[in-house]
Amino acid sequence: MNVSDSEKIAGLLQPLGYGLTADPSSADLIILNTCSVRAKAEEKVYGHLGRYKPLKQERPHLLLAVGGCVAQQEGERLLRKVPFLDLVFGTHNLHLLPEMVRAAEQGERRVETGFMDRDERLDLFPVDAQQGGITRFVTVMQGCDNFCSYCIVPYVRGREISRRSAEILAEIRGMAEQGVREVTLLGQNVNSYGLKGESDINFAALLRAVSAIDGIERIRFTTSHPKDISSALIDCLADLPKLCSHIHLPAQSGSDRVLTRMRRGYTRDQYLEKVALLRAARPGLQITGDMIVGFPGEDDGEFRETLALMEEVRYADLFSFMYSPRPGTEAAGYDGMIPRAEKQARLAELQALQRTVTAETNRSLVGTVQTLLVEGVSKKDGQVYGRTSGNRIVNFTGHRSLIGSFVEATISRAYQNSLLGELR
Ligand code: SAH
Ligand code: SF4
Repeated sequence: MNVSDSEKIAGLLQPLGYGLTADPSSADLIILNTCSVRAKAEEKVYGHLGRYKPLKQERPHLLLAVGGCVAQQEGERLLRKVPFLDLVFGTHNLHLLPEMVRAAEQGERRVETGFMDRDERLDLFPVDAQQGGITRFVTVMQGCDNFCSYCIVPYVRGREISRRSAEILAEIRGMAEQGVREVTLLGQNVNSYGLKGESDINFAALLRAVSAIDGIERIRFTTSHPKDISSALIDCLADLPKLCSHIHLPAQSGSDRVLTRMRRGYTRDQYLEKVALLRAARPGLQITGDMIVGFPGEDDGEFRETLALMEEVRYADLFSFMYSPRPGTEAAGYDGMIPRAEKQARLAELQALQRTVTAETNRSLVGTVQTLLVEGVSKKDGQVYGRTSGNRIVNFTGHRSLIGSFVEATISRAYQNSLLGELR
């Protein structure tokens, strides 16, 4: 999500003469695009800003900006705490950035964190202004109305809103004309697309419409909420060959009691039932997820239910986090906070289990033939890399002229985070 937002920011500032640099010491403008899902992400922002202070002293014309969730949450406070900061823009204010940067060039320090109303949001949906490329992100919905008890997203990103389908399809058609082969439809809960009324069609219908666009050969989407996996969406996996064999389906916990306190809206059995239906619709489907350990009140037995769920689902990959209390969320006021050392121990145990499962999943691919979309040059000389439909990276010896095309490769070796292949 943040990668896609950063690309949009870069696109918005191009007309003002700003381009990208990998070297902060030569930059005229540094923008920190932030996340506040966990306290650690938030603390990092202050750390980064501290590191840029000497640069600002050396080059006084350098502009420093903070955008995204931390900006939304902290607003004015950021400018007060960080006297050398120039700009703060919230999650609904991307479109104001060009004029804010112009004003900052004239010495004006500004904060914009207002939320837009529905109509403004529909009209100002941020589009990706990048050109070309092979794979691109397309934002289809924003915000979240689920209010899981631990999560700050609904507060910092605002109410859920779905972009007009005609605009999404026009953007993707334009990408296809530029040679883009794969799109990832993005949103906090993509599969609740259209359920709130502004859009004419639901997510399954959107997938079918994207699938009908010539030139786009692969479609991915993220993130999906288990409670909103509909039978229409499951049918798409069975019917649409362009849809990739991968779904990111965060469970967050394997314990019903914890899931209830998290307000996730499904039980362990309902989650497993969705997984079974998805796998029946698309044999070989790779499933990834997110898991939180040490949620308030989580006892050892409840934690073990999470491990057991992981063994049952066998995630290809899992993002796992220690519960982090977020100010203003319901769970931050719950009893039974778990000591940090205990959370760390649970996380280590969970991650060790996942490493084993990931390694086994990767090894099971050795000897199979995979269709890869070649995306770029590998770190190792003479190699390029592509991605399987199931979202695994495969490095192989091949020429860079293959980038952008589909190739078939036999998987010859499995590593923890990638695979090695040989062109067929
Ligand atoms: N909309 C997505 C997730 C967005 S946040 C979904 O519902 O799945 C990304 C991940 O951060 C979440 O899936 C969750 O695992 C984690 N997360 C969110 N709030 C958290 C918190 N307070 N502490 C620890 N992890 C958290
Ligand atoms: Fe947060 Fe839950 Fe919404 Fe995901 S569904 S963004 S975890 S509130």
